[in-house]
Amino acid sequence: MNDTLTRYAQAKIDALASRSLARTLKPTHRLDGVWVERDGRRLVSFSCNDYLGLSHHPKVKAAAVAAIGTYGAGSGASRLVTGDHPLFTALEARLAGLKGAEAACVFGSGYLANTGIIPTFAGPGDLVLVDELAHACIWAGARLSQAKVVAFRHNDMDDLAARLAAERPAVGNVLIATDGVFSMDGDIAPLDAISVLAQAHDAWLLVDDAHGLGVVGDGAGVAALFPDARIDLHMGTFSKALGGYGAYVCASAPAIALIKTRARTFVYTTGLPPASAAAALAALDVIADEPDRVAQPLAKARRFTTALNLPEALSAIVPIVLGAAETALEAAADLEAQGLLVVPIRPPTVPEGTARLRIAFTAGHADADVDRLAQAVRPWLAR
Ligand SMILES: *Cc1c(COP(=O)(O)O)cnc(C)c1O
Repeated sequence: MNDTLTRYAQAKIDALASRSLARTLKPTHRLDGVWVERDGRRLVSFSCNDYLGLSHHPKVKAAAVAAIGTYGAGSGASRLVTGDHPLFTALEARLAGLKGAEAACVFGSGYLANTGIIPTFAGPGDLVLVDELAHACIWAGARLSQAKVVAFRHNDMDDLAARLAAERPAVGNVLIATDGVFSMDGDIAPLDAISVLAQAHDAWLLVDDAHGLGVVGDGAGVAALFPDARIDLHMGTFSKALGGYGAYVCASAPAIALIKTRARTFVYTTGLPPASAAAALAALDVIADEPDRVAQPLAKARRFTTALNLPEALSAIVPIVLGAAETALEAAADLEAQGLLVVPIRPPTVPEGTARLRIAFTAGHADADVDRLAQAVRPWLAR
């Protein structure tokens, strides 16, 4: 092929590959919440966000199957047209109750949620302040909003305060957006302090709880750790601990009404398949009914950090920052040879020079698996 588009793509891919930054898909059969099969080999996965193993929970699967039987495989249209199946009403009521909010809106995915919510509340002349390590889709939403976008240093309240003081007077609305549990670092945003600053500067707060729901705060999510924080927009997903697909935001009734009327990634996209809503409802039931399961991911993560004398895990995610992309690739290959799947995370998912193993612990990991992983990771810590 010699057309210019193909040559352009090949040159870009070659340049990325020369820096160990090319990415390729590897067909992976997830046998349950822990075991995966790749190239005919069984591996213990520490790279699934299925923290509670609910993607394969019998009750969750049965709920999805039953919903397909009743409502079909797809939703048929945008929710504002004919795709608003009754299950969404039940799910939104359930989520609002869980977050202590007046109302909720279910989205097709977390990426769609953040890219729809942020432009609903910020536009030209406004300001969006984003933690520098926030998820890519928060950044995408902020940029789509056409507001001024300013990063603040990760979890740095002095920096956030300084930026609010400097920028607030010249702008209209201000939205502060952050992960609750950071997806590649596993640490937690100080939502109480952020909330105090937000209120002092008349700013709104959006918290992305993708990695908190089902794992921290006894499963209720990150907001439960900060009962005094005022969070205007509680966003989260069904794609991590709930084991399914889809996302939500909980907020005041008028805020949700505005989102359902104006968020472009809600209005101009097909509704989530009803089976995904059914699975999410069933997963929320399991989370409510099985506190022992909910406690496991954090317990496993702490077993690991204790074994290696690392700072105590705050969530199910523990990063082992190795620096160069090549080193992360080598470490992952070493672990994989030992039957342990830990997919290396490289820029631009993480900042340049901070390539890492991102380890995700789940309820299904045996203590022996965790101990074996600690043994295998130990030599890489010393390097
Ligand atoms: C995974 C993730 C998302 C995206 O959610 P999807 O439902 O996978 O699109 C958003 N925010 C954070 C923090 C995430 O980790």
